[in-house]
Amino acid sequence: SMWWGHVPAGAPDVILGIRDTYLKDPHPKKVNLGVGAYRDDDGKPFVLPSVRRAEEIIYEKCLNHEYGPISGEPPFTEACAKLAFGEKSKPLCEKTNATVQALSGTGALRLGFEFISRHYNKTREIWLPKPTWFNHPQICDAVCLPMKSYRYFAPKTLGFDVDGAVEDLSKAPEGAIVLLHACAHNPTGIDPKKHEWERLSKVIKERKLFPFFDMAYQGFATGDVDNDALAVRMFVDHGHEVMVAQSFAKNMGLYGERVGALTILCGDPETTARVMSQLKVIIRTIYSNPSINGSRIVQEILTSPELMKQWLGDVKSMADRVISMRKMLRSAIEAAGNKRTWNHITDQIGMFCYTGLNPEQVERLIKEFHIYLTKDGRISVAGITTKNVGYVAECMHKVTS
Ligand code: PLP
Repeated sequence: SMWWGHVPAGAPDVILGIRDTYLKDPHPKKVNLGVGAYRDDDGKPFVLPSVRRAEEIIYEKCLNHEYGPISGEPPFTEACAKLAFGEKSKPLCEKTNATVQALSGTGALRLGFEFISRHYNKTREIWLPKPTWFNHPQICDAVCLPMKSYRYFAPKTLGFDVDGAVEDLSKAPEGAIVLLHACAHNPTGIDPKKHEWERLSKVIKERKLFPFFDMAYQGFATGDVDNDALAVRMFVDHGHEVMVAQSFAKNMGLYGERVGALTILCGDPETTARVMSQLKVIIRTIYSNPSINGSRIVQEILTSPELMKQWLGDVKSMADRVISMRKMLRSAIEAAGNKRTWNHITDQIGMFCYTGLNPEQVERLIKEFHIYLTKDGRISVAGITTKNVGYVAECMHKVTS
């Protein structure tokens, strides 16, 4: 190339790499537990019936394809904020939330971090849980925000290290930013319990830290959208001015539609208006205005009582299938006579399970048994079905005994 010969190759995406190797594998029993997307009991992508219905309604309306507002349609952003914070939330009643449409969860995180990078005048350090979703540090890097980490996963118990997290955060400098997974922590599947969230809220308040919630799985953890918003709503009740990145990829199955939202709570209406105007400045220079198709679907569902009810049932059915696969997987491994403890499979929630398998065991699952997963031992429970659960359990038993 005349201009680009010096460009080094970028690091390949781990998850997509797993998918490619899986697709090339001709073995009849192969299983892909690497994907971060819900699958039905036949291992197929799932279109929610409420989403299909919304699409039909939208089609019948014969809408045009003009540009939408830079920050998204107000009924859409209002509905997103209500879903996250609850109908009677104080900031929503006082209209002190700056909420904009974003390009799914990733776009919301990027927009939020970009906003921090331009306007934050306290300690510009993002504290990430250890471990966290692989894209978090990459996004921080992209906007040149330095990172620190706080303890989250306790290898001994395969649970949440609440004491470690509180101790680390109590040493964070005043004004540092703390990234929290609102529910269904990725990759561990381990969420703090209510009393543990209270402790996190307290230390974050005392140390004057800034809480940034990544809420990519609302409804997916327990099957109930209000339950899953517990942490966000508790922090708001405790007076934190939080930032929240929302995604409709998982809970509406709208992965490729790229629809989400970012909310910044601002405390007073004047600040809210100024923050809103600056969010629009950023959006204008990156993608000008958001796509309109996915957000129409979300808006239709969230603003129609009938569709909303149907959607809540759809979310619950996905969460319930994942929960029942966890039970089946655990009992099948135990029934095989495995000597280890497997309670963490059913204790953890959401799409992912941190199995506790080490890299050698993962390697065997892939090479010998054609079961694909990430090196950290994380499996997507959504990839397990009543047809393959026996095989997965048998192989997990073999590599751990
Ligand atoms: N945050 C976490 C923790 C995730 O696991 C994901 C998706 O895997 C996202 C955010 C963003 O996903 P999307 O950009 O598809 O909404």
